[in-house]
Amino acid sequence: MISAVGQQLHYPTDQDTMKPITLRKPSFILISSLLLSIAFATISFISYFVANNSLNQHIKTNTLPLTSDTVYSEVQRDLLQPVLVSSLMAQDTFVHDWIENGEHYPEQMQRYLKSIQTRYNAFTAFFVSEQTTNYYHSSGIIKQVSASDPADDWYFTSRKTPAQFDINLDQDTADGFTTTLFVNHKVNDAQGRFLGIIGVGLASQKIRELIEVYQNRYGRQIYFIDRQGKVTLQGSQFKGADDIHNLSGLGDIAPLILSSPGGSYSYSHNDQQYLIKTRFVPELDWYLIVEHTEHSSSQITATLWINLLISLVVIVVVLLLQHFTLGGYQRRLEVMANTDPLTGTASRHAFELVYQQILRLADRHRHPVSTILVDIDHFKLFNDTYGHLLGDKILNQVARILTDSLRKADTLCRWGGDEFFIILPNCSQKNACAVAEKMRMQIETALTTLEGIELKVTASFGVAEYISHESPATLFKRTDQALYRAKSRSRNQVEASSPEVSESI
Ligand code: GH3
Ligand code: MG
Repeated sequence: MISAVGQQLHYPTDQDTMKPITLRKPSFILISSLLLSIAFATISFISYFVANNSLNQHIKTNTLPLTSDTVYSEVQRDLLQPVLVSSLMAQDTFVHDWIENGEHYPEQMQRYLKSIQTRYNAFTAFFVSEQTTNYYHSSGIIKQVSASDPADDWYFTSRKTPAQFDINLDQDTADGFTTTLFVNHKVNDAQGRFLGIIGVGLASQKIRELIEVYQNRYGRQIYFIDRQGKVTLQGSQFKGADDIHNLSGLGDIAPLILSSPGGSYSYSHNDQQYLIKTRFVPELDWYLIVEHTEHSSSQITATLWINLLISLVVIVVVLLLQHFTLGGYQRRLEVMANTDPLTGTASRHAFELVYQQILRLADRHRHPVSTILVDIDHFKLFNDTYGHLLGDKILNQVARILTDSLRKADTLCRWGGDEFFIILPNCSQKNACAVAEKMRMQIETALTTLEGIELKVTASFGVAEYISHESPATLFKRTDQALYRAKSRSRNQVEASSPEVSESI
């Protein structure tokens, strides 16, 4: 049996606004995929940011302080040793006795300084006497310090400071090429009189190497600043300004850092977030800064990508399932909406759209269109005699016979009850009458037994040809009138509509 809806769907139309009932599956799938994508992306990004935040929080509250403490104790071990050694030298009875005895035998002081330098693996050891202004070094007396020599400023500055010692990063007097971290410790006699400055020095390169060892070990930038915010010691890869005030972002929190003995801070510079832990080192009179660059952990980023990938797979699977499940339901619903369930012919709704389209095309292309209205004769009798079920079967068989006599371009519709309406594009009334006659004979001759019951099924036919620009209702009415005439003329015959009839409508 030809599917009437199928025919209709493939019939060429000039206008797409008239369509049989179709469900809008693509937009439904589009909306659900959009919703799913938004939901998955939101969840993935929220968990990414939550994980990132908690990681950074963890670094800020746990890891960074821990690193700072560890570095602090390492600093104490590595950097404070020169402070302790210098303090020891300043208390040494040999030093005191030797000065008080008039600084005779400078080679004794030279030997002493040399032994300190070797024992503590210091870069240099020195003593500057207030009395003689001699600069003693492990290699002998190097010079006399003088207030007029800018190279000796350190001595006169240290001498004035109230603290017992100070740390000074300077060119070495003995080796003019090396920057050295000097610990300048005051030597006072029992009465508190100032006798000079003694101490040791560490090559700054060695200290930088130490800082780099810390940096590599803890994966953080480590440097020192003085009380004014000037960077005093840093590794060779240091990325920052020479003064914390000069770095945008960090400069804003500089007063906070410099007014507190320690704390945790964060700042942003060049779109990058930094977490810092500061700690004042009283022995050095400097702040130790441990800085962490906030970047997403690669593991968290990888998890984000995996989440997004899983989401994508889930979305694709859900959409495919949706597509196939809905496709099935949609096709069934469309068939239900557009076909008559009993006979499989077009439903009236689907037919009316096709009907109007065909008439419009006929107006445009000036080709003939005919219609046939079929009504089974005394159908009520079959129902009453053999029951509705057999009646249904007769309807079904009649529909099959009608369909078999039609071309693909023709559309058959169950108009209601035992009535069928057919539209035949590109078909004159004469040809339509021939088709109707063929159908009539087929029904009369082919439908003689059903389920072992002998029957005499006949049908009456009304035929009409479309008159250009007449309304679909008028054409139907003319066809119906032709059928009426066939019925009144003892049924089982084909009657054509005549133009006179149309004029009288
Ligand atoms: P006529 O020759 O004048 O057409 O006589 P008729 O008995 O066919 O009269 P009419 O067309 O008025 O009767 C149609 C009958 O079809 C009445 C109704 O009970 C029956 N009918 C309508 N729809 C169905 C259906 O789906 N199944 C069955 N079995 N019968 C139906
Ligand atoms: Mg009838």
